[in-house]
Amino acid sequence: MDFQLTKEQQDIKKAAREFALGEFTDVAREYDLNETIPLDIIRKAKELGLVGSYIPEEYGGPGFGFLEWAMIMEEFWRVDPGIGQQLSAVAFGSEEILLFGTEEQKKKWLPRLFESDAIMGFGITEPDAGSDTASASTTAVLEGDEYVINGSKIMISNGNIGEFLLVYCLTDPAARSKTGRHSIIIVETNREGYQAEPMHGKMGVRASDTASVYFNNVRVPKENLVGTQGNGFIQLMKFFDHSRTYVAGHGVGLAQGALEMAVKYVKARKAFGKTIASFQGTQFRIADMATKIETARNTVYKAAWLVDQGRPDPMVTGIAKLYASRIAVEVVDEALQLHGGYGYFDDTDIQRFYRAAKVLEIYEGAKEIEKMVIAREMMGKV
Ligand SMILES: Cc1cc2nc3c(=O)[nH]c(=O)nc-3n(C[C@H](O)[C@H](O)[C@H](O)COP(=O)(O)OP(=O)(O)OC[C@H]3O[C@@H](n4cnc5c(N)ncnc54)[C@H](O)[C@@H]3O)c2cc1C
Repeated sequence: MDFQLTKEQQDIKKAAREFALGEFTDVAREYDLNETIPLDIIRKAKELGLVGSYIPEEYGGPGFGFLEWAMIMEEFWRVDPGIGQQLSAVAFGSEEILLFGTEEQKKKWLPRLFESDAIMGFGITEPDAGSDTASASTTAVLEGDEYVINGSKIMISNGNIGEFLLVYCLTDPAARSKTGRHSIIIVETNREGYQAEPMHGKMGVRASDTASVYFNNVRVPKENLVGTQGNGFIQLMKFFDHSRTYVAGHGVGLAQGALEMAVKYVKARKAFGKTIASFQGTQFRIADMATKIETARNTVYKAAWLVDQGRPDPMVTGIAKLYASRIAVEVVDEALQLHGGYGYFDDTDIQRFYRAAKVLEIYEGAKEIEKMVIAREMMGKV
């Protein structure tokens, strides 16, 4: 067992940190307030290999692993969760193509993410089916050589600005098992019948695109099916074993950024004739925050490392996602508390982090869903 990052990993982490500090710092507050999508920053990140970094070189990507991608996410979210979220989502869903797509599909869809301004997304959630993905009701019916898609999705990252989305569709409603009814299909957003509406007013991560998406007789060639018809639910669960590792990395980064802000603040702020940092009560809180973050980081790195070893572990990924998102919420709460009343105003960065944190316990598997996965895996082992 070797806990030392390789020289390359250290360099990637450093490059991500420098990029985030250079590109996010001055604009983060304004982009959050105005809900500005950082298209300029996406372009620059692509040039440096800092989006979809786990995509192999043969498909146009930088060819790093999920561990490196989780570290990049950590460094981005450490500086700004909103811009970090948008950069995280640029290639969201590409894992599914890598896992289940044909060679032809990988060569067709993935390189364009790096050769152009193309952005993608993954539409799973529906107005009446969120955590319960097996109840999704957007239909795709095979007519000749085309799937005809009807229905709607909600809260879809990049639904407005994406060039194409993976769409989780009901294709086999009569299948006996609820887990054998869905399929994953690529839909270009310029297809007739595709419509998206921005969803404004998010509590946090406001520099990221979120949409309601509607499909009205959208026709796509049957070659756009990813994997096997009727296997979409199983494929989706395997996708989450990968994607949740770097979403857990978001939590580590957010918590680290919040802790650093708190430390700076308490070292400068005085009360009762001393810096707040000099009170042991403050030091204990800083110690607790650092302990949580380091514990989460180790779990996240392990989960991502297992993915890179070709042995994704749903239990370890679930623990990483559950724990990192929980401690992110706890740490940023303490960090804001240490800022006192000043932390409550929108000219401080800490309140932006505070607003952002909660999403981590909701998307990419709400915390209750992670617990269901962990318990299921644990029960199966004994
Ligand atoms: C900023 C943002 C970006 C997003 N991006 C995407 C995206 O790109 N693609 C996409 O498809 N979706 C996206 N989502 C949607 C997100 O994945 C869903 O919000 C999430 O899966 C939860 O679904 P829901 O909101 O319908 O909540 P529900 O499923 O209605 O759940 C509500 C609450 O009940 C709990 N609950 C549900 N079932 C159980 C149970 N059996 N036992 C105990 N508790 C339970 C849940 O954990 C949750 O706390 C995004 C959401 C946000 C906020």
